Amino acid sequence: MAILDGCSGKSWTPTVQERPCPTCGEILEVFTKDGVVTEEVTCPKCGLVIEAGKAFPQ
Ligand SMILES: [Zn+2]
Repeated sequence: MAILDGCSGKSWTPTVQERPCPTCGEILEVFTKDGVVTEEVTCPKCGLVIEAGKAFPQ
């Protein structure tokens, strides 16, 4: 198990991650929180929409 460090902030801070588009492989900047996408992202290359509220598709 990972060791949790003491950075449990008060604010609800999503993490920006670079993830490859599951369809075309384009690198997308995705905001996630606990593995769940928090902002809808549209791939600029193939037009795939990554919906908010779901885990990033693999
Ligand atoms: Zn794509």
